[in-house]
Amino acid sequence: MAEYIERDRALQAIEGMKRPGKSLVIMYLQEIKAADVAPVRHGRWIGEEVDFHGSTAMECSCCHKVRIIDEYCPNCGAKMDEKDVMT
Ligand SMILES: [Zn+2]
Repeated sequence: MAEYIERDRALQAIEGMKRPGKSLVIMYLQEIKAADVAPVRHGRWIGEEVDFHGSTAMECSCCHKVRIIDEYCPNCGAKMDEKDVMT
């Protein structure tokens, strides 16, 4: 699986280094074409469990739609790995 990094963070990390050739690395990094990716939204299943044709459905904390629970929200695509918040 491909991994993506933020160019600004990479540039900040390199700029903090004291190594020869740093400016060349920065130049190459600035010339790499950006990948067509969107930031991952993180959510969790909230509220009451609802039976939906034999499957369990709950409310998504991001889009607030009730959907069958899965690793990702089928409605908004949020990754459902956000930790529970104690209230
Ligand atoms: Zn959602």
